[in-house]
Amino acid sequence: MGVRTGAQYLERLQSHPREVWMRGKRVEDVTTHPAFEKPARHVARLYDMQHDPRYKDILTFPSPTTGNPVGTSFMMSKSLDDLRKRHKAFQLWAEASFGLLGRSPDFVNTTVMAFAESPAVFERMGPRYKENVDRYLEYIRENDLFLTHALVTPQTDRTRSSKEQVDEFLHMGVVRETGEGLIVRGARMLATHGPIADEVICYNLPGLKPGDDAYAMVFAIPLDTKGVKMICREPFDEGGRSSFDHPLSTRFEEPDALLIFDDVLVPWDRVFLHGNVELANAMLIEASVRNHTGHQTGVRAIAKMQLAVGTAMEVAEAVKANGFLHVQQMLGEIIGYIELAKSCVVRAEVEFETSANGTVRPSFTPLQTLRGLMSRAYPRIIEVLQTIGAGGLLMMPTAEDFASPIGPDIEKYYQGAGGLPAVERIRLFKLAWDLAGDAFGMRAMQYERYYAGDPVRLVAGNYLSYAYKQECKDAVQRALALSGDPGKE
Ligand SMILES: Cc1cc2nc3c(=O)[nH]c(=O)nc-3n(C[C@H](O)[C@H](O)[C@H](O)COP(=O)(O)OP(=O)(O)OC[C@H]3O[C@@H](n4cnc5c(N)ncnc54)[C@H](O)[C@@H]3O)c2cc1C
Repeated sequence: MGVRTGAQYLERLQSHPREVWMRGKRVEDVTTHPAFEKPARHVARLYDMQHDPRYKDILTFPSPTTGNPVGTSFMMSKSLDDLRKRHKAFQLWAEASFGLLGRSPDFVNTTVMAFAESPAVFERMGPRYKENVDRYLEYIRENDLFLTHALVTPQTDRTRSSKEQVDEFLHMGVVRETGEGLIVRGARMLATHGPIADEVICYNLPGLKPGDDAYAMVFAIPLDTKGVKMICREPFDEGGRSSFDHPLSTRFEEPDALLIFDDVLVPWDRVFLHGNVELANAMLIEASVRNHTGHQTGVRAIAKMQLAVGTAMEVAEAVKANGFLHVQQMLGEIIGYIELAKSCVVRAEVEFETSANGTVRPSFTPLQTLRGLMSRAYPRIIEVLQTIGAGGLLMMPTAEDFASPIGPDIEKYYQGAGGLPAVERIRLFKLAWDLAGDAFGMRAMQYERYYAGDPVRLVAGNYLSYAYKQECKDAVQRALALSGDPGKE
């Protein structure tokens, strides 16, 4: 088939009803439900961009199977130019949501492409598992499917392993194997976009312990598979919000859901790995998934920081707070995070690594550094925006006030510096509030803290696995060699 249109994406959601729960009610049709209709429409717009003559050459490449245009995020790279094409494709989709859609379809597409790029990892399970990965990549590429992923065990008791929880299958695991496939039971978090995606892929982050065989698995299934349920968080926008009051949260909400598997059959051809703790722990690293997902997420993060930093600058300039030295210093600091992110992404591309089968991928260290940086840099950018916007963020009226008897007071008391009309200042501060105060903005911040896992262990891992440790240690040895012996000088 090749790249889908937005209409085809929405039609497939309608023809594949899934079990989604919101506020104690089962959602009949996610494409018309007020909590999911707008997020689904935005994803549909991304699919439509693939057909737009302005973007087509960047967002698509010829299918290795049919020659038809398919999404660039499925493309394996053979050169630096290919990596740059992937960068541009990530950037186009990211800029369409100002980077606020963390889990746009290109994110998990990239994960499956990375799996297929590392056949040796899955071959260790047996040849059919590698073939399953290849067939699955081809299937989602040719049908242009949207995947969510659920990697994390829900927080119940973090001091216990999955099998030590009050119920052996509270955390998702394999209950038994049958001739048809694995029977899977239990829960996983946090399926962002789950309600409006086509399929889910599950794998685990490293950290399984010996004996955790039942929890070691990698598979993908359609979200309308019997026994799969999703319980959604409270939405930020259920259709009643004004786009003047909430310009971002009325457009770019990403639904999040807990995923429950009620004795779900995962057919053998959808199993990529199972029952092998050592391999399940090694898979993420050995398949270089983080190189490729870090590339997508790094490009996206730049778009998100540009919006937040730009908003902080505009808010400061709207009331002339930008004349104060400490405000300039804060703005200079957060500009630095954008520039660091750009440098990490470019370095990762230029210093690409070559895989065993000759494809290339962005280098790991700069992208992992950027992942760790984002968990601190984005919350800091938001803190600066809150600090500069201060009480002004809280005194804004609503869209309805303009046409009310209080309208003339709004025009007078809400104007900004240098004759900035009230409506423009309010519009700007509303944008700032969506990013820095509203529940939508708080989720967007929490996302940057946690989307790549627990930042504490992630950054600690940078020390434990740092590839250039010896360069640092050699410098210390050279410096120590300069010091004389005690009592001999
Ligand atoms: C908005 C948002 C969207 C997300 N989307 C997705 C998604 O689409 N797919 C997906 O799979 N995941 C997603 N995630 C989930 C994300 O992967 C997890 O939140 C992340 O891995 C952290 O795990 P946790 O939330 O369970 O926190 P925990 O791991 O429970 O950590 C909570 C706190 O306890 C500490 N802690 C817990 N255990 C330990 C330990 N063993 N050692 C040291 N410290 C510990 C941590 O440092 C942290 O401070 C999303 C998260 C957010 C916030």
